[in-house]
Order: sequence, then C-alpha cells, then structure tokens
Amino acid sequence: MDSLQRLPELLLPAGGFDSGIAAFEGGADAIYLGFTDFSARKQARNFDRLEYRRILNLAREKGKKIYVALNTLVADAEYPEVAELLIFLERFLPDAIIFQDWAMASFIRERFPSLALHASTQTAIQSPEAAALAASLGVSRVVLPRECGRDDLERFAREAPQVEYEVFVHGALCYSFSGLCLASGLILGRSGNRGECAQVCRSYYTRQNGDKGYWFSCRDLELVDELAALAEAGAASLKVEGRMKSPEYVYSVARLYRAGLDRLKGVAISDAAIEGLKEEAHTAFARVPSKAYFFSASGDGLIDSSYPGHRGVPLGQVEALEGGRATLTLEADLGLRDGVLCLKPLACAMSEALAFSVQDFAEAAGGKRIVTAVAGARVSFAVPDKIEKGDLLRKISSRELDRRLPAPELYPPALEVVEAALGIEACDGGGRFRLEMKPAKASSHVGIADRPLAFVDSEVLPLSVARTPGGFTRALSLFDESGEADFRLHVSLESSTVDVDGQAFPLADLFVPPSLMKKAKNRLYEAISAAFDLSAAEGSAAALSETLSRFEAKAREGEAASHGAVGLSHNAVGFEVRYAPPRAALSFPREGLASGLPYASPAALATAEALPEAAGWRWLPLMPVVSDLSGYEGLLAARLKREFESGAKVMVGLDALHHLPIALRLAQLSPSPDRIGFFGDIHLYARSWPSVAFWRGLFPGLSFFYEAVEDLGEDDKPEREGSCLVATGEGFVPPLFISRGCFFKHDVKSGSCGKDCPKRLIETLNDRNRRYVVVVEDCVTMLFSEDRRSQPSGQALH
Ligand SMILES: [Zn+2]
Repeated sequence: MDSLQRLPELLLPAGGFDSGIAAFEGGADAIYLGFTDFSARKQARNFDRLEYRRILNLAREKGKKIYVALNTLVADAEYPEVAELLIFLERFLPDAIIFQDWAMASFIRERFPSLALHASTQTAIQSPEAAALAASLGVSRVVLPRECGRDDLERFAREAPQVEYEVFVHGALCYSFSGLCLASGLILGRSGNRGECAQVCRSYYTRQNGDKGYWFSCRDLELVDELAALAEAGAASLKVEGRMKSPEYVYSVARLYRAGLDRLKGVAISDAAIEGLKEEAHTAFARVPSKAYFFSASGDGLIDSSYPGHRGVPLGQVEALEGGRATLTLEADLGLRDGVLCLKPLACAMSEALAFSVQDFAEAAGGKRIVTAVAGARVSFAVPDKIEKGDLLRKISSRELDRRLPAPELYPPALEVVEAALGIEACDGGGRFRLEMKPAKASSHVGIADRPLAFVDSEVLPLSVARTPGGFTRALSLFDESGEADFRLHVSLESSTVDVDGQAFPLADLFVPPSLMKKAKNRLYEAISAAFDLSAAEGSAAALSETLSRFEAKAREGEAASHGAVGLSHNAVGFEVRYAPPRAALSFPREGLASGLPYASPAALATAEALPEAAGWRWLPLMPVVSDLSGYEGLLAARLKREFESGAKVMVGLDALHHLPIALRLAQLSPSPDRIGFFGDIHLYARSWPSVAFWRGLFPGLSFFYEAVEDLGEDDKPEREGSCLVATGEGFVPPLFISRGCFFKHDVKSGSCGKDCPKRLIETLNDRNRRYVVVVEDCVTMLFSEDRRSQPSGQALH
C-alpha cells in the first residue's frame, strides 16, 4: 500500500448487542445493525432503542462507526412509524442510514438532512452513471451489488467518484441479484424486500434428467486474500454479510479481516497466523469459499449443489471404527462437546448431513479420557451408526472459540448525559431563594442533536446557612440519580455565589433540605422526558403531514420535483393510463415457457424478434440485469432506430435506476416526442404515493407504473382509480430470480461460463410440489414458476 489513508474500513454485521461488541473487539471499524422493523433481516434479533444507544455510546468511545439499516420497501401506511424512528435516530445520530426505498431516502433527505444516506445493495446500482445519479440524490455511499467484480469497482471509483463504494467481501451470496429477487415473496408470501427472505435458493430442485441438487445454492464469498486488490480498486468499505449469524462468527471473521488489513498496512503477520484465523472463522460458519464475481462477470465457482449449509473445517478421516467409536488423526484442534459433521454423498448431486457432538473423548492409544486435543493428535470418540471407515469428519463448532467472546455484561448501560444549568437568585428580601433549572444543549457524546430544550422550571426554597460547609454540593449530587429515566443529568451552577441584599453569599454555605432538592430534581427529569416525547410526537406529525402531502401532490400532478437530477425535458407523451395493457401482453414468446419472457433480452433484440404490440404502441420492456450493459444499450438503440423508420411508436419499460440515463439517450433517437414513451416496470416497486412521486420527480417522462407484484400486506395497496399505478393483471409471470450467474456452469458444479457457453437454455425444474422453468439468455439466468397461482403457498422449506 502506498498510502495508509486508502486502507478501507472493515464493516461487520451486528444482529444484536452481543454481535456488536464481538465485532468491535474483533477489530471492526464499523458495524451495521437494524431495528425490528424496516430492516432487511427481520428474523435477526436486532436492536431495541436502549441497546442501540448503548452500542452507540460504545462506538463513540472507541471511535467506531454505526450504520442503521432501514433497507426494506416502505408502505404508505408505515410512514408515521418510519418518521417516528427517524426522529429518534436524529437525536441519537448514527453515521448513516442504509436504505432500499428511494422514496424513503428522499423523505429523509428533505426532512432529516442530518442523516447520511447509504444506498443498500438492494438498490441494485449497476452502472457508474446510476451511482452518480444516486450521489445527486444525496447518497454518500453506494453498496455495490455482489455481482460487481474488481474491474467494475475500478470503473465505478474512476467514473463516479462522487460517492464512496462499499463492497461485500465475506459471507453468504444471493443467487438472484439483490433487490430483484421475488422468489420468497411470491412463493411463500414472505418478501425478501420486506426483510422476510425464506431462502428459496437454498432448496433442492430436480432437473429434467432426474438429477436432484441445490442448483441455486451459492457458495460463500471470501475475499480475504484479495484485500490489496480491493483497496487498490477503490473500495472504501469492506462489508461482511451476516446479521443472522452468531457473535462467534462475527468475532472470528472480524479478527481474520483485521489481520489481513493490518498485514496490508505493514504489520508482520505470518501466513500460518492468517490460516489459523481462517480456520476459526470457518469453524464458526462457512460454506465452500468462493471468489464469486470478483474475477468473472458470470460468477466463478458459484454453486455448491451438494449441501446448502455450514460445513466447518476438515477434522480428519475415520481410520478405524470399533464399538461405535471412530479413531482419527486430527487435522484441527478438538474439544469435548465440539460439533462434528459428516457429509455422506448420495446417489444424486446432494449429500446427507450427519451432525453430532464429541462425546466419550479419549486418546486413541490407551483410551485415556481427555477434554481437548490439538491438531496432529490421534483420538477416538463416539459416532452415529451411519459413519463408516474412510468418512471425512468436519468440525462445525468449538466451545473453546465460544468462550473467548467478550461478555456483554461488562459493557456500560446506555445513559445519555444531559447537561443542566442551575441559576440561583434570592427573592423576598433574602429569606428564600429561587432555583432555576435550564437543561442546556446536550453535551454528551451521543448528543440530542442540536436540539435545545425550551424548558425552565423554578422552585422557591427556604434560605438558610448550613451548619457544615459543602452541604449544597452534596445536595446537587442528587441530580445524578436518574431513576427510571433513560438519560442522566449533570448539573452545573451558573455562579458560585448568590446575591443577597447586595452581598455575594457563597452557595457552598447554603443549606437546602434534601427532600425539597429531590422533588425539584424529579420534576426536572420528568420535564425533560416530556419535552423529548413531545418533540418526537410533534416532529413526527409535522414531518408526515407536510412531506407526504407534498409527495402526493407531486405524484398526482406528475410534475418535475426539485431533484430534477436526470433533467429530462422530454415530457410525458400523454399516453392514457386506461390503455395500459396487462403486463402479460408485453412478453416475448419462448418455447417451453408458457407465459413468455417478460423482457426484451439482448438475444431478442439481436435476433430481430418482433416487439409485442398493444394499445397502438410497440413495447420494449428493458431487462433489469444484463451481462453487458453497453452492448445492450447499443442493441436497444439499433432496434429503436429501425422501429422509428418503420413508423412505429415505442413504449420503453424502465426497471432499474441505471435505465434512466439510458432512457434519456434513447429518447434523443425519437423523430418526434410523441413517438417514444416510458413506463415504470415492476422492479421500480412503485407501490406508494411517495415512490410514484420519487420516480416521476426523477423522470417526468414516465406515463404510468406497473404495481409491485409481491403481496405486501393489506394496507399498502395505493388507490388505483384515476392514478398512474396499474395492476399487472392476469397471466403475468415475473421472474423469481434474475441472476448474473449462468446456469450452464451448474453442470460442472463450480465451473465458469466460458467461450463455449451456448448462452441460451430453457429447462424445467421441479421441487416437491411445484414446476419451474429456468431460462438462460445471454448467460443471465431467470427462474419462473409455472403454476404459482394453482399451488397453495406456505409449504415449509427444509
Ligand atoms: Zn453462460
């Protein structure tokens, strides 16, 4: 490294307070966490508000950062709740909010400008142009899709340096492009876009030739050996996945990557030490490691079709079996009650998993009972019946690792310190004095972000001289007792004397009955609490009614909002929404896929397939993911020119942020403004007035929107009559997955998609009660459910 300043931040997940401290103690520079609502990991334990303040205190003390994930789509009806949470966060300011919903981001930008914005990987930002657009919308950091490799990262950093880039380096991979996955929501009614992903990609499926396998189950990302390349390519932050994972995992992965970064900085750390840390991290949780898309645009060694779960580290091969005990020479340290796994290959591509814990642990020679043994030792322990000689055993948990975790109870509770000034003056001729209490602007490290409290209370107390000096100071210490309050007062005196009949009377000599002082103190605590609550409630109501009505007005009028980032002067073409066809009518026929392909794929454009026609227009719904974006734009431009030459009018469907700048250039090709139109497709997730307003504000040319297709609850259906939101209608089958991984590579399990790839494929797949069609076009893989309407939803996944 030529400059230490370029060393990226190490960012770890915190599913709960214990994981948060594990991350910091392991060497993380920053953590990301969620609250129970509006977090893309609803099943994680997440944080309540006091725990959040506690970890925030700790972060501030240690000079670490905290990012709060509010990365789900937000329904209209949820805005009051979101606003209330944002008001809390404005008081206890995190270093950024990670968002998915662009409407919520613009709400934050307008109403809560002190909150920095990071665009979640769920925003699926796929081009430097889109990143620059995000920057113009107030985003300071973009979390790149896991599909972006080293070359992409370099290009983003070079062409759109306005934002920082956060890059996933370790942990689980999604098969589908994040933010575009509809599988869990459509099949099980648990939307991944609402934090409820049921991991449909970790199920097994049967192929046409009868092979069963976990065909979509990705290996785990691991880029610890690529840290120098990541830093040089311009990564500002290295992100580890796993808010659902254990504190042990967070701690050991943090230690591994910290060591890697320290080594990059010039600290002498041996390869053996790094390997040891890898082994610990893999023991906590690991699938087969992969570099995924880092060196290959279509993914390299992406899939492990044999087993979708944690497989730990090799422990050794069973050398002998006797009386239900296996003897082996250890390849890793092992202790009594550590977890062991054996993956026994089945006839198909899958393995059967046998998991057990070490019992009756003994030395192989002599049979002496032991508690721990180191790698190289020959040991024996009890194993299940199915284990055979020659089987490879793996270690999947370690009690020794668990014991090293920092204990949460050793960390101080969260109590914000509020400074209060006491003013004292004599009254009524000196017989009594008045205590005036004014909470000052908060000065603690967590801060009540620049929010002075307009509160003055006064108490008239009898004035008498203390028999012993110092009584007044002792009485003041009563203010430290916070009781039930979630903050603590620290009082200071405005003056050390009080003026009595023109004479300075030293306060140290005053006597105040402690009972009276205590009453005054309690009232001050109550008043400050009430002021906080009131400001939260008022702020919430005001923020809502004001901002939402503005959003709604904008949406209804379709006027250009102040963002205007795209700067499109091309107005809506006056396409009447009542002519909007059912979305199924905009598909391209594909043999083997009854519903047809819902997008104009590069192959469809290159092979001169006719565009679907409806309502007097030809329709060009853009693919949200392609393997070569600039090539795709070239094909789109060529096709549009031909369509215009033939006299056609073309309606272009935009389905991702990066489509907007492309759409502007395509609009220039139109011979007249009424020959080209635009609509918002399903992945823009226009499902609330704020979201319609956001997209319209950014791109006024959008005539209408197809509603999001996931069932997102009762209260989130925007009123449709007379609006620009259109239901997709009967017969529309959206892709469950859209992946930059090419399905062909699955045939060889871990291969990469080479020159010999036929690039197109249609094949049926089955799971226990459904039929699917997998479609590959130009190496992008899509999965469709053939019968999602006829099947009951909600079957359990294994
Ligand atoms: Zn391919």
